[in-house]
Parts: sequence; structure tokens; C-alpha cells
Amino acid sequence: MTKIAVIGSGVGGLAVAARLQALGHAVTVFEKQATFGGKLARFEKEGYVFDLGPSLFTLPAVYRDLFDRTGKPLDDQIEIVAPSPAFRYQFPDGQVVKLPASDPGRIAGALGAALGSAATTQWLSLIKHAAQIWQLTRVPILESPLNGWRDLIPLAKNPLNLFKVRPWQSLRRVANQHLKDPRLIMLLDRYATYTGSDPRKAPAALITVPYLEQNFGAWHISGGIHQLGVAIYGRCNELGVEFRFNTQVQKIQTQGNSVKSIILDTGEEIEFDLVVSNTDAQLLYSKLIDHPLAKKALQRLTKSTPSLSGFVLLLAVEGETPDIEHHNVWFPADYDAEFDQIFSKHPQPVTDPTIYACVPDDASMRPNANSESWFVLVNAPRHGVGPGLVDWNQPGMKENYAKNILSRLTDRGVNLEGRIKWQQIRTPADLESEFNAPGGSIYGSSSNGARAAFLRPMNKSSINGLYLVGGSSHPGGGLPLVGLSARIVANLIGKAK
Ligand SMILES: Cc1cc2nc3c(=O)[nH]c(=O)nc-3n(C[C@H](O)[C@H](O)[C@H](O)COP(=O)(O)OP(=O)(O)OC[C@H]3O[C@@H](n4cnc5c(N)ncnc54)[C@H](O)[C@@H]3O)c2cc1C
Repeated sequence: MTKIAVIGSGVGGLAVAARLQALGHAVTVFEKQATFGGKLARFEKEGYVFDLGPSLFTLPAVYRDLFDRTGKPLDDQIEIVAPSPAFRYQFPDGQVVKLPASDPGRIAGALGAALGSAATTQWLSLIKHAAQIWQLTRVPILESPLNGWRDLIPLAKNPLNLFKVRPWQSLRRVANQHLKDPRLIMLLDRYATYTGSDPRKAPAALITVPYLEQNFGAWHISGGIHQLGVAIYGRCNELGVEFRFNTQVQKIQTQGNSVKSIILDTGEEIEFDLVVSNTDAQLLYSKLIDHPLAKKALQRLTKSTPSLSGFVLLLAVEGETPDIEHHNVWFPADYDAEFDQIFSKHPQPVTDPTIYACVPDDASMRPNANSESWFVLVNAPRHGVGPGLVDWNQPGMKENYAKNILSRLTDRGVNLEGRIKWQQIRTPADLESEFNAPGGSIYGSSSNGARAAFLRPMNKSSINGLYLVGGSSHPGGGLPLVGLSARIVANLIGKAK
């Protein structure tokens, strides 16, 4: 039986622990926090319940596969529901469009009804193109342990396929080819932020993100997306995974080019055959392991642009807000200015940001029918002191920025004044300190640049016995990709001998 340590109980750590234990290994998970879930966290006060991380669940098939392979089906554990309508987008000209949770045809129809019939044709042409890219990239890139450009040779063998994927083109370029209405371009641009990226630099292949959302659905989980973590943790316990909470791993020790043991913050050293790291890859290679191969991996990683972070407001709201849906997006007048401010050498909190609010119509997430739990998220530069960073701990900064967001929301037609019972502010500095996410990056590294997918750390390290799972490693961040990374790692390790 192989003894495996998993460092971190984010959704990636939980998913890989369940899969590996089911394959016959003896898995112990070490988590610095008092509980599991990592960014898939939850906050509750006075009956108001908030997801602190994901508010949108896409590609549930990835987690259905996890549950099928480790025991009973996922749908026995959680209730996956489709809000209807799912999205309310408001553009700078005041035009509103409401979209269903899935079905590209109905979505394109709704876009046409709100923005003019040309929008239907343009969006359908984009989604048709995206379907081809998904077919071409799903297996070789997203479901396999990408090792380098060589893995794209099957694509390159057919120049037509390479021309379709266009790894050299940005998402914005492909938007301009299919879409004429600037509001549709804004809509597509926003999907770059699902990977923490700038649409002007992210690759064209990211058009698969709206394709997946619209084809396979935008889901909510009753009680909150955090329930997914509860279910996987439950599965781990059923299988016999051991958990050690409030336990930070300080070092991974090596012998030659292989992992040997881990050292905890208490000084305790425990030997393991394999180590799977769910901590951020930058942190892993810079702080947790002293080895020339780790330095090499870090050098490669520093060539990529880190993902953006997020500024969050949790609002306990009394009364009901008219014309609000599950997911609400208010676009600013100048979307490019948002990315300029975030990805600059001298960034600043976005002056006039896109505002996203998840207001679940879920009785188990609010104290009564006459109340609302608002999770408000705006894109934000990472936390820290130095080039490319903002010190979010400056006195008064977060409070002033929260006021700015609420006043921008009022300008865009939603005045919550007098109805906010209490609010909680969460900055990139909180993401960093709570989950060891450097600078509060949501997704590790961004997809900015044609080489981004190849700079993201591989799931199998060049140090023997060390594996990486989670949003900062291949294939990237967000629940579906993190779930895929757990599957890749479990497949790489295989069954116990
Ligand atoms: C505000 C926000 C909104 C988001 N919205 C969405 C969304 O709508 N849809 C979506 O799909 N995704 C969304 N995401 C992204 C998604 O939450 C993440 O991609 C995913 O949860 C990351 O999981 P992970 O396994 O990579 O690790 P993490 O959640 O980062 O967990 C890592 C764990 O490791 C622990 N740890 C770190 N270092 C150590 C150590 N040395 N020793 C012990 N433990 C350690 C940490 O405490 C943490 O628990 C969002 C994220 C945020 C923050």
C-alpha cells in the first residue's frame, strides 16, 4: 500500500484524496485551516449564507465521474439546480439581457430579442466555432497531463485543426471576427476573467468557456456551491482518508531526486512514498521544497502572468430587490480600462469595475423570504508591496473601495441604501492569508499569452513522487478544471500494487 500525503484540502485536494484512496492507497490530507474546502468556503451569520468562492457550477460531469468512481452517485449527495433565468447582464447603454442557464439556441435567441436579430446569428456562429475547438482540445489539452508543445503534434498534423484552434490568436481577436455588436464582445470578454485573464491577451481557445457553460449548463447547488466540498469530504471519510486540520506543511524533504517526507509546522517529520501538493504551485516551488529541480520549475512559472484577484462584499440585505436574478452583471463604460488598471506595473483598484452579484433565490441561504444574501465580486489587482501589486491593507482602503462599489451600483440602477443590515469585506489580502494564495490570485497563473498553458506547472513534477493538483497547476483554475486535474493525477499514480 502506497502512503500518500496530500497538502491542502481545497476541492482539488479533496477530489484527488477520494480518488487515490478508492484506488487502494493510504491517503492523509494536511490542511492549515480548521476545515476543508479552501476557496470553496462558506460564511453564515444570522441566517444569511454566502459562498465565499465559486457561485457558478459548470461541467458537473467532472464531479459525477468522481463520485461514480469512488462509490455512490453525486446526485444522491447534493441537489444540482438550474436557476431560471440564470443571468442578467446590463450593458453600459442600460440595455438588459436575461439568459437561461443552458441551451445555446435559446441563449442566442434571447440575445437577439434584446440586442437585435443580428446578435442571434453572430452568437450562434461563435458557439459553433467553439464546439469545434472543444472537440479538438478536450482530450489532448484538458484531460491529459500536458507536457509541452510536443503534445500538440496530433493537432499540428492536420493544419486545418491548428488553424481552427489558432493558439497564436487572442480571445478578443476571435471576438472581433464573429461579433460585430460591442455588447456581445463585452459578454465574450468576460469569460477571460473565468481564468483570471485579460481578453486581449488570453488565447482564442477560451471561447470554449461560454460553449461549456451554455451547452452543459450553469448550475447552482441547493444550500450553496460549498455543498460540493461537503459531499467530497463525506466521500473521503467513507473511504477512510485521514485528515489533519490546523496543520501546515512547512517543507517537503527529498532524497536525491525523490520525495522522502514532509515536515509540519510542529516540527514533526513524516515519511511518505508520494506527495500530492494542492497548495499554490508558486508557493510549493519557492518555499516548500529546496531542490535544484524546484528552482527550475519556479523559473519557468515566473515567466507567466499571475491571475487577477477579487474584492468581495457580502451584503445581508433586508427586503426584496426588483428585477434581480441569480447571477447579475453590470458592465462599465470602458471594459478595457478595467484590465489596464489590473494588469499594469502600477495597478490600482479598478475605478469603474464590472460588478457581479450572485443573489441566490435559495430559501436555505437567507433568514426569510423577505431578505437576500448578496455576494458581490469585482476583479482586483493582487495584494502585496511592489511592482504589479496593491497593498490592500492600507488603512481605510477597503472601506472606501466598498463605498465606491455600492455607489457605482446605485449609478447603474440598484440602490441598496437603508436595506443593508450588515456587510463583510474580503480583499485579495484575505485570500492570500487564508488560503496561501500568493497575492490572492484566484486561479494561480492567468491564461495571458500564447504560451500560458505550457508555463502552468505540470501535474507530475520532475521531482520523483511529487504531484500537483488544483487551480495553479495544469489544466487550470475553476471547479471543472480543478476536478480534471485530480483525475489526471489519480490516473498518473494509478492503482495500488
Ligand atoms: C472569489 C472567488 C470566486 C470564484 N468563483 C468561481 C466560480 O464561480 N466558479 C468556479 O468554478 N470557480 C470559481 N472560483 C475558483 C475556484 O474557487 C478555485 O479554482 C478552486 O476552488 C481552487 O481549488 P484548489 O483545489 O486549487 O485549491 P484552494 O481552494 O486554493 O485550496 C488549497 C488549500 O490548501 C491549503 N494549504 C495551502 N498551503 C498549505 C500548507 N502548506 N499546508 C497545509 N495546507 C495548505 C489552503 O488552506 C487551502 O485549503 C472562484 C474563486 C474565488 C476566490
